[in-house]
Amino acid sequence: MLTLLLIVLAIVGLLVVMRREAGAPAALAVLGVLGLAGLLLDATVIGVLLLIGAAAVAVAGLPALRRQWLTPRLFAMFKKVAPKVSATERTALEAGSVSWDGELFSGKPQWEKLLAFKDTGLRDDEKAFLANQCATAAGMCNAWDIAQERADLPQQLWDFLKKEGFFGMIIPKEYGGLGFSAKAQSMVLQKLSANETMMVTVGVPNSLGPGELLLKYGTQEQKDHYLPRLSDGREIPCFGLTGPRAGSDATSLPDTGVVCKQTINGEEVLGLRLNFEKRWITLAPIATVVGLAFRLFDPEKLLGDEENRGITLALIPRDTAGMDIGRRHHPIGSPFMNGPIIGKDVFVPLDTIIGGPDMIGQGWRMLVECLSIGRCITLPSGATGTARYALGWSGGFTRVRRQFNVPVAEMEGVQEPLARMAGLAYISQATVYQTANMIDHGEKPAVPSGILKSQLTEFQRVILSDAMDVHGGKAVTLGPRNYLGIGYSANPVAITVEGANIMTRNLMIFGQGAIRCHPYVLDELAAKDANDMQAFDKAFFSHAGLIFGNAARAFTLGFGLGKASVPFDGPAAVYAKDIARLSAGFGLCADAAMASLGSALKKREMISARLGDVLSNLYLASMVLKQWQAGSQVEGEEALLHYSCRFLLQRAEQAFVEIFDNLPNRALGKILKVVVMPTGRRWDKPHDDFARDIATRVSTHSALRTKLLENTWDADDGEQRNPLARYNALLVDYDRAEVIYRTLNKAYAKGELPQTALHPEARVEIGLEKGLINAEDAEFMRTFEAEVLEMLTVDDFAYDAFAKNKSTLIDHNSQPTPATKQEEESVK
Ligand SMILES: Cc1cc2nc3c(=O)[nH]c(=O)nc-3n(C[C@H](O)[C@H](O)[C@H](O)COP(=O)(O)OP(=O)(O)OC[C@H]3O[C@@H](n4cnc5c(N)ncnc54)[C@H](O)[C@@H]3O)c2cc1C
Repeated sequence: MLTLLLIVLAIVGLLVVMRREAGAPAALAVLGVLGLAGLLLDATVIGVLLLIGAAAVAVAGLPALRRQWLTPRLFAMFKKVAPKVSATERTALEAGSVSWDGELFSGKPQWEKLLAFKDTGLRDDEKAFLANQCATAAGMCNAWDIAQERADLPQQLWDFLKKEGFFGMIIPKEYGGLGFSAKAQSMVLQKLSANETMMVTVGVPNSLGPGELLLKYGTQEQKDHYLPRLSDGREIPCFGLTGPRAGSDATSLPDTGVVCKQTINGEEVLGLRLNFEKRWITLAPIATVVGLAFRLFDPEKLLGDEENRGITLALIPRDTAGMDIGRRHHPIGSPFMNGPIIGKDVFVPLDTIIGGPDMIGQGWRMLVECLSIGRCITLPSGATGTARYALGWSGGFTRVRRQFNVPVAEMEGVQEPLARMAGLAYISQATVYQTANMIDHGEKPAVPSGILKSQLTEFQRVILSDAMDVHGGKAVTLGPRNYLGIGYSANPVAITVEGANIMTRNLMIFGQGAIRCHPYVLDELAAKDANDMQAFDKAFFSHAGLIFGNAARAFTLGFGLGKASVPFDGPAAVYAKDIARLSAGFGLCADAAMASLGSALKKREMISARLGDVLSNLYLASMVLKQWQAGSQVEGEEALLHYSCRFLLQRAEQAFVEIFDNLPNRALGKILKVVVMPTGRRWDKPHDDFARDIATRVSTHSALRTKLLENTWDADDGEQRNPLARYNALLVDYDRAEVIYRTLNKAYAKGELPQTALHPEARVEIGLEKGLINAEDAEFMRTFEAEVLEMLTVDDFAYDAFAKNKSTLIDHNSQPTPATKQEEESVK
């Protein structure tokens, strides 16, 4: 009995010491005291074992002892197994900042740090721009005309976008730009997502490209010349990195610049001779200035001793001799300007290098540093805007589309995708807004940029697919009335650009996070590079303390013991506590995977992807909680909070299970399973009750629908009709219409209306005659039904409308009926 008591006390004591990361002296005290107690109380065996444990802790844990014999051996081993970080990778790792992602990596997230990013909202000029200029621009877009007829935005819209400064949102006011906050940029792009071609056209110059590069690294002369011209659209920029041989592996680019001298107007000019082939460059066909990435060589050593000067960026005017630009690619679904650029022996002076000669060889660092912000904003905002429009249209359509005598929105099979769309839109909105808010506080979220880009564009894919499904044939049939199909087919663009999603998920998020966000790994690698054993000892044993701490936290929290205190009340608290629990498990698994696989983890992308999934889902869930805490909640939003958090946390747990099951070291996988999920999974997919509730609200005129569609284009006073506004108006009237539908349908079912009254319009007229409804209701229903029918209508075209080459048209109806085999035989 005494032995059992000592064992239990030792376990509890060690778990407390580990959870608090109290270090070797505290563990030594627990084992030493209990060991001595065992000897004194005649429990000799356990007493001796505990004292042996204490001795082991002393030798391994006390710095003065371990540095004599243990650390040198560990350091030697570490040098052998630690991954080699190339210069390119190091650049990527050092770019950007670490904030909430680092907290999640630590296994003990301090929620106060997240909540400290206070939201100050938008400035008045930003709000006005969103309400006025964005609505006007959206009202000028006719998706069918843009995609199918002219394959471009109309001239009038281009002029408006330039005049109103859409292309200079990131450029400060002193250079003539709008100087918008990250939050405002995001909301503008979300609103412009009413048309994906316009969203991309505006998004790209405001993302990674000449504007941002000049702002951060340009010489004063370059800034003074280009920034005002970029702000008002006199210059249209593009940025060429990708080529036929260099896609995801952009640093393998084979394009070259050679330092040379050329005589121009009788004067010898020092410059670069460029040879390059770029493709898929957005805005290239119309760009007036090309940002270009290439490798710079100085074989004649005109600039110094070094021949290979590394990746360098330059800005080249369109009319530079030798540059072939203007041809177009045809991006799927959306005709935004995109095309190749080829340069043969293009000579440019040295001052075209962005940042001047000082920035030679710094190109990759410049690009990666800029990417951390742009990648958090442009595509994630486009995805969120698209998600919200698709949700709004789908909620409206499924309410007014009746089958089996009821709106299809009443059917559970349709409610499931409607709720999923709402949940994903809610998560996206919270994540992009809260991350933009962090950027406005000065953060440059490198790892979250990969999370937002890949996760939110994957959500966009799911949402668009669900939206297509619930619209049935209405969205399948292309034509001016189809507001969804073109955007749906353009979705792969977002999946592929700015770091293709497969690569981002498998390689980048955890790969970058493991080193960048981990509290100690970067220090350990730096100690290795500097051959500094003292620094290694400090980082390594702090790291060991963290591993034990995370194991103890994950295990005890898994049993519901000593729950983390969180600054959230009400329904959010339970999720915040569980994010803390899963974060401890994540920290432990990350270390376990790195320790057991070493540099092989880079190749084990499926493990790395799942670790990235855990981090991503915890990050997204945290953003939802932050948004919930900061915002004013509306009726029905709580269901959406539950739905979203459960959706994300069950995905995080699923990723954990797949890690346990697939770690090459099977025993380690099993141990981790017991430590991280001692009582099994805690989260299932969101309950159907939530789905029913959410689907009903997003398909009716409700506070929740209004909140989800806040700041979308919802006016119907532009040049083009606005389907979202039309659905919103129908939903306002829907309750009244539903009562009338029911009265008339009931009467029809009872035989009070003639059997031939099959159309709702006929029932209205006969119902009026028979006094079932009054004249006012009849008039209301005539208008309502006419609008419903208009929203259900699809386009049709002349027989020869689609064939580009009319001479190939076959007139099927004038052809003789094909002969049967027998007839053919008899003719022979
Ligand atoms: C419409 C459009 C617009 C674009 N605009 C621009 C622009 O303005 N400027 C510019 O410079 N570039 C632009 N790009 C290029 C874009 O950034 C690249 O397409 C993208 O980086 C992916 O390269 P890739 O298409 O060659 O795919 P590849 O690199 O050939 O990849 C093929 C597949 O392999 C996967 N993959 C690759 N490496 C790994 C890995 N290590 N682990 C796991 N999976 C991996 C990828 O995820 C992808 O699924 C644009 C592309 C398109 C299609």
